[in-house]
Amino acid sequence: MTSNVARIFETMEYGPASESDKEAMAWLEKRRNHVGIFIGGRFVKAHGKETLHVTSPADGRNLGSIAIANEEDVDDAVFAARGAQEKWAALSGFKRHQYLYALYRAIEKNSRLFAVLESLDNGKSIRETRDIDVKLAARHFRYHAGLAQIADQEFPDHEAQGVVGQIIPWNFPLLMLAWKVAPALATGNTVVLKPAEQTSMTALLFAEICREVDLPPGVVNIVTGDGSTGALITAHKDINKIAFTGSTEVGRIIREATAGTGKGLTLELGGKSPFIVFDDADLDTAVEGVVDAIWFNQGQVCCGGSRLLVQESVHDKFIEKLKRRMDTLRIGHPLEKNIDMGAVIDQTQQERIAGFVAEAREEGADVYQVSTCPTNGSYYPPTLVTNVSTSHRIVQEEVFGPVLTAMSFRTFEEAIALANNTKFGLAASVWTESQSKANEVTARLKCGVVWRNSTNLFDATCGFGGNKESGFGREGGKEGLLSYLKPKSEKGLPDADVSAPRRDFESVDNPLIDQTPKMFIGGAEARPDSGYSLHVVNDDGVSVGQIGAGSRKDIRNAVEAARKAEGWANMTNDNKGQVLRFIAERLQSRYGEFAGRLQVLTGMTQAQAFEEVDQSLAALFNYAAWAENYEGRVHQPPTRAIVPTLNEPIGIIGITCPNEKPLLSMVTMMSAAIAAGNRVVMVPSEKYPLLATDLYQVLRTSDVPGGVVNIITGGREELTKTLADHLEVDAVWYHGSAEGSVAVETLAARGNLKQTWVNCGKAFDWDHLSGKGAKELMHRATQVKNIWTPWGEGIGPK
Ligand code: ADP
Repeated sequence: MTSNVARIFETMEYGPASESDKEAMAWLEKRRNHVGIFIGGRFVKAHGKETLHVTSPADGRNLGSIAIANEEDVDDAVFAARGAQEKWAALSGFKRHQYLYALYRAIEKNSRLFAVLESLDNGKSIRETRDIDVKLAARHFRYHAGLAQIADQEFPDHEAQGVVGQIIPWNFPLLMLAWKVAPALATGNTVVLKPAEQTSMTALLFAEICREVDLPPGVVNIVTGDGSTGALITAHKDINKIAFTGSTEVGRIIREATAGTGKGLTLELGGKSPFIVFDDADLDTAVEGVVDAIWFNQGQVCCGGSRLLVQESVHDKFIEKLKRRMDTLRIGHPLEKNIDMGAVIDQTQQERIAGFVAEAREEGADVYQVSTCPTNGSYYPPTLVTNVSTSHRIVQEEVFGPVLTAMSFRTFEEAIALANNTKFGLAASVWTESQSKANEVTARLKCGVVWRNSTNLFDATCGFGGNKESGFGREGGKEGLLSYLKPKSEKGLPDADVSAPRRDFESVDNPLIDQTPKMFIGGAEARPDSGYSLHVVNDDGVSVGQIGAGSRKDIRNAVEAARKAEGWANMTNDNKGQVLRFIAERLQSRYGEFAGRLQVLTGMTQAQAFEEVDQSLAALFNYAAWAENYEGRVHQPPTRAIVPTLNEPIGIIGITCPNEKPLLSMVTMMSAAIAAGNRVVMVPSEKYPLLATDLYQVLRTSDVPGGVVNIITGGREELTKTLADHLEVDAVWYHGSAEGSVAVETLAARGNLKQTWVNCGKAFDWDHLSGKGAKELMHRATQVKNIWTPWGEGIGPK
């Protein structure tokens, strides 16, 4: 004994400290021959006859099998969810509060079983499942229990989306389930959830606890299966919203599958997050940060800090420190309590990671790896890749493994440029002791989450999610809750007027005045590139003017102008508000002209025309007020950090205007978009485009900087397609036909995966959106950035 202790003192080696797998294996054993899915509050045998074997990535041991749910199964699950939804939504917030709280308690009571099962199934260390996955999952239910109680107070005039289809990945199986199920249930939705085929066990255990707490049957349904089951869920006609976390590739498939269906959609996809270390950072703490950024969960973290950017003056020193720290990392069986990293999910993933590293090596990169790594499972060592440039695939693509690339930068500007040089926009980690530097970097990073002197911190109170090819929508916090609700104003909308504009005319109004049709690009009038123009014909068959026939080239020029007007995003809110009021003043001075135009074009009465101009003026003032007041929040997670949020603009929004309320709808969308700091390229109503050419006369004489608002007239559908296809357009708001809505969202799924708001052939209520519903549009016009700001010493939760 003594000699043993003496030897340990000598070698300082770790002894075995294994967590028992007894309970978890017994749980698995009991279910080995019952491959069930959870529908309507019961485990039922799947109609789908195919099954998948489940093995532990850590040692290849057989854990059982799961069913691949087929169409009938998914139908049954959706039917059960639909049947339960109204009653669930009609329960009081208090009652839902109690159910969610009961789920929290039940997770806590079974926490060790959850943790061990998760480690066996996924390969991640028991230390992480026990202290992070399960704890955070439980916390999600507890926090959302509270939100269930107050959701209707916080978000009046909203209601549940209905039945929600939820598809989750394998990297945080139980935690992703909690992120999805808790907010959905809190807001009165019912769910059909599909766990990843590699990791379904904790979802099935969760189904058991739903029974244990007597959750009403049908509120939670869990179907197992692979991508084919996922595709059945996304295509199901009776599902109102899809929430997906997974790869960008599958995210695109889902966007396309749901295009123009009116289903709500949130996508939480891949990332290639920068980890920026300035020369004034506390380097030793930052080294620990890197460990948590990229070697946490074997690097299989969508927001993992996989791109290290270090200021040149401290680069070599930092890399040396990092290598020394890497030498102390321990990789081993996930149930060993003293290991830092377990196994990656499976052999395919292991080979994929190895492929990336081999390619980098061939291209001349230097690779540093931890040398001791088990070989009896799918393990991959912590890896540092240096001597790379931005053109290397390993620097651009998501590896989804424990692989870090490192590059140096010289200046502040170069750090920002490198950090943003990615198609993704999920998260970033910034290390500096200078607060003003941190503030500026935070503001200029294009991503949804920023961790300051910290990394990979999460909490139920805070929103999480990205921009660009990292997806859209937020999960967690009040911002996450909103994506499970929809405004009541969108219920039962009438069909939109999608009739084609008249082109034949019998006479010409005022033939002596030659109205040369123009576009409005970059603050100036521009002739259409096509050299063609179109007559605008009113209902009496009179040509009341001409417009330019816009083309792809005009759209491109407009987007280019909008890109150059990026400074608008950084204008103070006070300034944006003032510009909107100024537009209103200018519009007011041409009141009679606009009212007259409305009458001539649409045949409405004078009183109606006056009303629409009045509403348009009011909309400008309304959004001026929101420009100044649509502020972020400060989340207060139960850790040593505060998390302020910013409502940031999306970027460049392409806007296609409807025929309904042609002046009001156009002014409303423009005002909301620019109030939030976006720049717009607008395609006016095809029937009444002269209102837009009149509007640019107003814009020209107000203080709107050139390029913030651009107007292209012409064939609405073709112009919209160019916008939806354009890689520099970040969002498209389309109000046209049902087919046009499908086309926009199909195109948006390709390219840069832009955000969309389409009307699916319905006429939205512009009286509401220009007035009391302004916040709904401000929400559409912005994306939330969560800024984790720890205080005191240390880098994480205490
Ligand atoms: P990862 O790269 O993390 O494995 P995937 O995007 O492949 O992520 O998978 C995430 C989830 O999406 C899994 O539950 C998987 O079964 C599901 N999935 C895969 N293909 C499809 C599809 N075509 N439609 C819907 N879901 C899918």
